[in-house]
Amino acid sequence: MPKKVCSFCGRSEKDVNFLITGMNGFICDSCAQQAYQIVLEAGFGPEGTRKNSGAFDVSLNDVPKPTEIKEYLDEYIIGQDDAKKYLSVAVYNHYKRLQQHTNDAEDDGVEIEKSNIIMVGSTGTGKTLLARTIAKLLKVPFTIVDATVFTEAGYVGEDVESILSRLLQVADYNVEAAQRGIVFIDEIDKIARKADNPSITRDVSGEGVQQGLLKLLEGTMVNVPPKGGRKHPDQDYIHVDTRNILFICGGAFDGIERKIAQRLNTHVVGFNSVQNVRNIDKGNLMKYILPQDLKSFGLIPEIIGRLPVLTYLNPLDREALRRILVEPKNSIIKQYTKLFEMDGIKLEFAPDTFDFIVDKAVEYKLGARGLRSIVESIVMDAMFEAPTKNIDSFTVTLEYAKAQLEKSNLQ
Ligand code: ADP
Repeated sequence: MPKKVCSFCGRSEKDVNFLITGMNGFICDSCAQQAYQIVLEAGFGPEGTRKNSGAFDVSLNDVPKPTEIKEYLDEYIIGQDDAKKYLSVAVYNHYKRLQQHTNDAEDDGVEIEKSNIIMVGSTGTGKTLLARTIAKLLKVPFTIVDATVFTEAGYVGEDVESILSRLLQVADYNVEAAQRGIVFIDEIDKIARKADNPSITRDVSGEGVQQGLLKLLEGTMVNVPPKGGRKHPDQDYIHVDTRNILFICGGAFDGIERKIAQRLNTHVVGFNSVQNVRNIDKGNLMKYILPQDLKSFGLIPEIIGRLPVLTYLNPLDREALRRILVEPKNSIIKQYTKLFEMDGIKLEFAPDTFDFIVDKAVEYKLGARGLRSIVESIVMDAMFEAPTKNIDSFTVTLEYAKAQLEKSNLQ
């Protein structure tokens, strides 16, 4: 038997955690780990199979058509037809692009460009829900990241490259699959620069991050540290090409209506002067949003140029909130009904309780997110007691709902 040293790095048994014995040599724990990383980078999964012909493979025949994507979204999301349409088309086109790259034989010189998307709409109107729902339907790696955690490279916070680490993780370190994935970047408005002119002082979390992001959106080779985290000179990088990654950005862009109004030459406060502005839906200025409004808000023009598909989400009115409460496939009411059903109890709500719940959500200015906390407060006691009580049904009446909510600390 040869001397007990790692045949790869030459370190002796006492310098490593442990040595694995082979036929004619040894391998230490850290070399074994590195070797595994190399195997993954080569596109071979844990079972030794080449993954890119498996889980994330796409054929246009298997991909739902835009109308089918929208129908699927309709089951879970109320309203927001424009955003749904834009997303469905963009995702379908994303698959087409991927097809184009695999069918090199048919290359006719027409290169379909990537259509990254930006969705603008107040918080709680369904942006993340749209992205999540579409992810369920897709066969490409998908991840959601929050733009607020990023800072310019070298500062405390995450580098934008960490987006790709996440995508790699979701793709099980199959680089080829990750390179065709979809990334949803939430709260993109939070990295807007603070004023509509280039900063003089250092803007670590705003414009600097936008510049970093720009590279990714444009399509570039990025060196990603394999385990995420910060770059380290000793680490081997995984090279990820972002050319075919579809980016969907979302943001509330609080106050952008004012910019839109200015552009439309109206005033948000004091609508008296508005008579002369033709047929403008003052209640929902968001639908008139144009790329230049994003610029006034503080996104750099280069970023805007890389997000050619701009769509918006409508604010949720009372009617929409009521529908959200009961209609979607996994609506809040359906979820609680199911929870009770698992204890063999039929949960029912008197019809007027729905209006009451919606009224409270509006009153507390909680939007769709508030519906859940309100329903939760109303049925909390019932959920606590029902499993031990021998009952087979429970009805929430308006009086009960009012009393329960009064007791709760929601208000
Ligand atoms: P944001 O626009 O801030 O990303 P979310 O998508 O996270 O908002 O929405 C918050 C919650 O509100 C969702 O989990 C969902 O329950 C509900 N919701 C918001 N908008 C809708 C909608 N259009 N249809 C159905 N549920 C919605």
